[in-house]
Amino acid sequence: MKQKIQFKSYTREKLEALLRRIELDHPARMEIERSLRSIKSGDWGERSLDYYTSFLNMEDYVICQGLRLLSSNNYHFQIDTLLLHSNFILILEVKNMAGTLKFDTKYNQLIQEVGGREEVYKDPIQQVNHQHYQFLKWLENFQFPVNIPIQSYVIVANDRAKIVPLNNEESLSKKVIRTTKLLDCIHNLQSTHQKEILSTKQLKKITKLFIKHHKPANPDLLKKYNIKTQDLLTGVHCPQCASLPMKRVHGKWVCLTCKFSSKSAHLKALQDYFLLINSTITNHQVREYLHINSVAGANYILKKLNLPHQGTTSNRTYLLESLDPHQSTKLIKSHKKSLPD
Ligand SMILES: [Zn+2]
Repeated sequence: MKQKIQFKSYTREKLEALLRRIELDHPARMEIERSLRSIKSGDWGERSLDYYTSFLNMEDYVICQGLRLLSSNNYHFQIDTLLLHSNFILILEVKNMAGTLKFDTKYNQLIQEVGGREEVYKDPIQQVNHQHYQFLKWLENFQFPVNIPIQSYVIVANDRAKIVPLNNEESLSKKVIRTTKLLDCIHNLQSTHQKEILSTKQLKKITKLFIKHHKPANPDLLKKYNIKTQDLLTGVHCPQCASLPMKRVHGKWVCLTCKFSSKSAHLKALQDYFLLINSTITNHQVREYLHINSVAGANYILKKLNLPHQGTTSNRTYLLESLDPHQSTKLIKSHKKSLPD
């Protein structure tokens, strides 16, 4: 059962929404942009493994990306890439960093030197070893055999990065590998571990448990960057030129900058609301947030969205879960179809 599962996270979508909703000169903008760059680069690094894992022609692999589980001591741990095989498990921590990467196992740090500047990061070897330990505990907790061999590596995904071991060169060379060496390592594991430990049934069960227990990262970014809800920019962005806000004219959104008009531009705005502010919204909040003058106008939009709601007519709250970016592509497409621009 060759299967690849990409587990979701909200961090990237939330950072993108936040950048749309704060002033250009907001003091937190640079830090938010830096976080987004780092996430995008990490995503790219993980995707770069796809090319190599696509050569695995055996039918008994399950490849999981971005899996986040609860550990036995109630903390979440995330594994960049996990390869499940009946005979062994492989855990990969992917680093897509440029420049010179100095691995210091004595003081447990990774020092990145790029453009004449040094930046210090957590030791990825320690990180991956800890994931290894937590994952083993997780297996034990669900009564799976813990004698399954687990191998873990730190993958340097940037081909142009220079790897410099500051100490323990011998053990580092076995633990830190380039993407290009991944297949060799997997083939080695295949030939070393020929005994089946997990049956196909158990592999399926583990995969089902991953899907059931994955807890997507969903950070409270307003708290993290010390931004108040009332500081967020309100209104509907123009899908054509990104200007804010569009004006509601006869049931359409009209851009005052480029004159583009749309019937569905508010969907993206409500998605931002869902990501950054709240998972429910009232008629009053819709009017304030989307800049709609009338109760009837806001009602029309809410009715068209067909959202589940709670409470009586006067204090009704609408649930925005269907605008979850990981579920809403279909909804937005069908809504757009019924409301042609
Ligand atoms: Zn425009």
